[in-house]
Amino acid sequence: MSKTLKHAALEPVDLIIVGGGMVGLTAACALKDSGLHVVVVERSEPVVRKSLDRDCRVSAIVLGNVRILQGLGVWDHITDVEPMRSMKIWDDQRSGGIRFDASELGSGERSEEALGYLVENSKLQAELLKVFHQHDSLELCCPVSIESVTWKSEHVEVTLDDGQGFSAPLIIGADGAHSWLREQAEVGCYSHDYGQKGIVATVRPQMNHHGVAFQRFLPTGPLAMLPMSDGLCSIVWSAKNEEADRLMALDGIAFLEDLNLTFGPVLGRIEAVGERAAFPLVARLARHMVRHRMALIGDAAHTIHPLAGLGVNLGLRDAMVLAQEIADAKRFKEDFGELDVLNRYMKQRLPDVLSLLASMEGFHRLFTHNWPGLPELRGLGMRLIGNSGPIKQLLMQNSTGLNLPVPKQIS
Ligand SMILES: Cc1cc2nc3c(=O)[nH]c(=O)nc-3n(C[C@H](O)[C@H](O)[C@H](O)COP(=O)(O)OP(=O)(O)OC[C@H]3O[C@@H](n4cnc5c(N)ncnc54)[C@H](O)[C@@H]3O)c2cc1C
Repeated sequence: MSKTLKHAALEPVDLIIVGGGMVGLTAACALKDSGLHVVVVERSEPVVRKSLDRDCRVSAIVLGNVRILQGLGVWDHITDVEPMRSMKIWDDQRSGGIRFDASELGSGERSEEALGYLVENSKLQAELLKVFHQHDSLELCCPVSIESVTWKSEHVEVTLDDGQGFSAPLIIGADGAHSWLREQAEVGCYSHDYGQKGIVATVRPQMNHHGVAFQRFLPTGPLAMLPMSDGLCSIVWSAKNEEADRLMALDGIAFLEDLNLTFGPVLGRIEAVGERAAFPLVARLARHMVRHRMALIGDAAHTIHPLAGLGVNLGLRDAMVLAQEIADAKRFKEDFGELDVLNRYMKQRLPDVLSLLASMEGFHRLFTHNWPGLPELRGLGMRLIGNSGPIKQLLMQNSTGLNLPVPKQIS
């Protein structure tokens, strides 16, 4: 039907963002006071998968990014979230464990209350949309699909299947792991399929979690139990494809049996589980994060194993750094679609992305292989880190994003 629509003249705007997920909306909100006319194109209405009355897609937003979202006015309305006060990691070989406490973060007399907060994706997205809709310079086209994108030397042209069309000096791909825009630009990506799926669900344990996140490493993949409000927990259970399919096929009671056996009695019995969803786990890195008049952010640029719960956290940082470069270029009357400007974004983000991709890969191998001597080495490593204040603090600063500069607010 849409193919027969006649397109009106293309409306010139300043920026087109493909994808109105958490990352695309953050980029738009970061530019709310920049004076730029930003159009976000989103193909679907939000679908919330409820599990024990919660969206079963949940993200641990680390402290550094909470500060960014506070700066955007998004975090103020996110209530009913549980502070993740500490994280306990152990494996099934009883070779030791390690605990990270928010109280060990910070310096001098100032310690932090939380390493981060568990937020339902739909809740974060809804708050981003509220801020988005307060600004006339930000426009949302939803639900609508893009029919075509054409790169010209001075601008990009986009036509939508509702007859609208836009031209802009820059297009941003925030359209997720299977990015349509990345494909249109023939960028391609490096990928590593873990042969695993991540099962997510909300569960109710018998005992209070006291804000502790638990991560148990098993030879088949990690099982995380993350603290939510009202005593609930969000699980991310990574398992080999066949095992994940078996677990997904079980009814609720049988699934709980397996979950209790696997997680153990740390929180007493896990008594209830809501709806489950499973996602294939693949690490990806776009061959180019930028091209002439195009930049990729969030999952469109990279995906990582969810074992550290940092995927969207990387994406939020991409969004802020790119928005900052765009706003600065505009201030200095530079063409922000030019590769020179976009390379500044890429150079700032690539080291962070590469180091996380590499460390997730290393962690995954370290904990899923049981070569002779490896469990002992793992145990020794965990004990050494646990007893070494400075190394532990550095690791925590890195993973919470507190060692990275907070992007300035853009005006
Ligand atoms: C099991 C699991 C657990 C995770 N847990 C965590 C965690 O605890 N912490 C964390 O930081 N990260 C976590 N992640 C990663 C996190 O979910 C992703 O990094 C994040 O959702 C990426 O956001 P995004 O906005 O880049 O992409 P998406 O969320 O995929 O959003 C892309 C948007 O683009 C739209 N779109 C796609 N194609 C088009 C098109 N052609 N035209 C228009 N619109 C389009 C889609 O509808 C969607 O709204 C987890 C991931 C998994 C799989």
